[in-house]
Amino acid sequence: MDGKALGLKIREEVKIKAAAIKAKGITPCLAVVLVGEDPASLSYVTSKEKALEEAGMESRDIRLPESTSENELLSIIKELNNDNKVHGILVQSPVPKHINEENVIEAVAPEKDVDCFHPVSVGNMILEKGGFLPCTPHGVLKLLREYNIQVAGAHVVIVGRSNIVGKPLANLLIRKEYNATVTLCHTGTKDLIKHTLQADILIAAAGRPAFIKPDMIKNGAIVIDVGINRVEDASAKKGYRVCGDVDPCAADRASFFTPVPGGVGPMTIAMLLQNVIESAQRSLSK
Ligand code: NAD
Repeated sequence: MDGKALGLKIREEVKIKAAAIKAKGITPCLAVVLVGEDPASLSYVTSKEKALEEAGMESRDIRLPESTSENELLSIIKELNNDNKVHGILVQSPVPKHINEENVIEAVAPEKDVDCFHPVSVGNMILEKGGFLPCTPHGVLKLLREYNIQVAGAHVVIVGRSNIVGKPLANLLIRKEYNATVTLCHTGTKDLIKHTLQADILIAAAGRPAFIKPDMIKNGAIVIDVGINRVEDASAKKGYRVCGDVDPCAADRASFFTPVPGGVGPMTIAMLLQNVIESAQRSLSK
């Protein structure tokens, strides 16, 4: 499953929508806040900013030093909440250890919470009360739809129960519009392989490099690899390479699989841009 191609297609659609909004006098804008200099975080925010610019949207880049206090960060978020030129706010995770991440998530106004991390956004998502859909889970659903994968009635096994991937994905898949039966596995799951072997659709989001081995996959299953892990590799130019949670040899057993890189990652960015457009469109109708 080519997430890069589908991501680009969605970004082209977003570009057209952005131009239409701009014609009405508003430039869709995402504030991207990065505290500190974590190299992986820097690379994530740079690619998001580049994607925004390519789509003709504004990226309000806010780089803050590692020493930024929690209060300073919270007051910047408050300013962005009150700035009607800003349609979305993204604070790149993780924030430095001296800052309480929950307070940061809860400081972002739900109407600008394009990541769908705020408890109000999560509640609305679970109760199907509208609002933004979380980017990575939404990207996975788009991929399944694009490849006409039969999700209704399928047994989906998700490995990983994080707030940003596993939990929201399970909640979306059990909606009537998807009608999947979901098993959510985690570190407390006994005999993981017993569950993964039952999956018609297996979604790996454990953050463990190449941890899902071929013998854990039912022949012909659909395998979605959400993992993005950096592993040391002296032969690579940067000294590391990026790999997923699924052993690449497992692709032979799958009927469809998402590569890493080029699978779910590009979909996450595309869905983020789409959420910013949705927010800008809402501001037009206010
Ligand atoms: P996380 O570390 O917050 O959560 C990992 C989850 O996996 C935990 O709930 C844990 O219970 C489970 N887990 C870990 N080891 C396990 C094991 N041995 N057996 C069963 N369950 C186990 O991770 P996250 O933020 O959800 O990210 C997961 C992976 O997805 C990471 O590699 C991350 O980089 C990647 N990710 C990719 C995207 C994307 O756009 N493709 C977006 C978000 C996260």
